[in-house]
Amino acid sequence: MDFRLSPEEEAMSQFAYELATGKFAANAFTWEEKEYPWENARILAEHGLLGMVLSEENGGGGRPMIEGILAMEQITRICPHTGDIVQAANFGPIRSVDLSMEDKKLKREVIEAVISGEHTISQAMTEPEAGSAVTDLRTTAVEKGDGFVIRGRKVFSGHADVSTYFQVYCRFEDGKIGSVLMKRGMDGFNIGLPQKYMSGAHYCELTFDDVFVPKNHVITHDFRKLMGAMNVERCGNASRCVGVAQAAFDRVLQYVQERKQFGRYLYEFQGIQWKLADMYRRLEAARWLVYRAVVNAGMGVSAPMESSLAKIEANEMVQYVTNEALQIFGAYGYSKELPLEYLYRRGRGWAIGGGTLEMQRTRVAASLLGKKISQRPEKPRRQQGEE
Ligand SMILES: Cc1cc2nc3c(=O)[nH]c(=O)nc-3n(C[C@H](O)[C@H](O)[C@H](O)COP(=O)(O)OP(=O)(O)OC[C@H]3O[C@@H](n4cnc5c(N)ncnc54)[C@H](O)[C@@H]3O)c2cc1C
Repeated sequence: MDFRLSPEEEAMSQFAYELATGKFAANAFTWEEKEYPWENARILAEHGLLGMVLSEENGGGGRPMIEGILAMEQITRICPHTGDIVQAANFGPIRSVDLSMEDKKLKREVIEAVISGEHTISQAMTEPEAGSAVTDLRTTAVEKGDGFVIRGRKVFSGHADVSTYFQVYCRFEDGKIGSVLMKRGMDGFNIGLPQKYMSGAHYCELTFDDVFVPKNHVITHDFRKLMGAMNVERCGNASRCVGVAQAAFDRVLQYVQERKQFGRYLYEFQGIQWKLADMYRRLEAARWLVYRAVVNAGMGVSAPMESSLAKIEANEMVQYVTNEALQIFGAYGYSKELPLEYLYRRGRGWAIGGGTLEMQRTRVAASLLGKKISQRPEKPRRQQGEE
């Protein structure tokens, strides 16, 4: 066992940190009020960070997943909005396209578009009546000629207002859940007005009013493949929690050595020292759970147990660390003058998106027990002699 980064991993982490410090730091906390940071997407593309972990044969960079995670952590540490771009081009729905889509030409077109930094892709999974219970989704795909007609409605599709491509989860006529690729502008495909989460990130409601998608737009017909890719997406969610928490911790470490009260620096108070130790302890614990899940997954998909453990720990850790950081900054932390309040708001949503904390705990329990644990009400048992 060796808990050190390899020289290549160390170099990637350092490279991403320096790139982000040089190019993204100056405007890092201004994006909430502006358009999507396309200019940063182009810089990431120029430096090979978009699609870096996607397969080389499909136009990706073919780098090990851990390198993408390390790069994203450092970029998020400096500019969380830019970290989201790295996620969308490496660990989000683009990964399902890379691993599962059969049509090689279309697959390559989508991957090349997304990693150019000119386009992005949104996940359209959640529906009004199907949140945690994703298998309750009602969007249908009905075969017609050489394609499928899609009808339904989605909510909370991330950055849909600026996306060109959409991975739409739907139910085929055989009852199986899969997903299809939809393109902005297809007939009957409506994208609602952008709404904002408390982090400022955008999402939209989508409606599919008999949208025809050709057969080659099927990403997969296999729900297990979708969930496999989702485990990797969860590692990306957890890694950005580590980046945001690190951003808060960096600021705190400096502040306690500058701010004086009662004639002493804050760090001289034992109450503050213990907070620093606990923040760092939890940051490191989450970080290494994320790295373990990603390294064990290699170039493929992460194990459900490991990705859920990493997600739970990182989701709870980022809330704790950013909250403590805000507290240590006092009124300055709670003010809009500094990004502490933003980091606190930013960390909160990841405990809901990508599968809630509660659902992740259920998955961990199921792995421990080696059983599928149904969340549905028990069907009434038939009495003897009943039809
Ligand atoms: C930041 C963010 C980004 C998102 N991005 C996207 C996106 O890009 N695309 C997309 O399609 N969706 C996205 N979502 C939506 C997300 O997938 C759903 O919010 C999530 O799956 C939970 O569904 P819900 O909000 O309907 O909550 P519900 O499923 O209604 O759950 C409500 C509460 O009940 C709990 N609960 C439900 N079932 C159980 C159970 N069996 N046991 C214990 N507790 C339970 C939940 O944990 C939760 O606390 C995003 C959400 C957030 C916050």
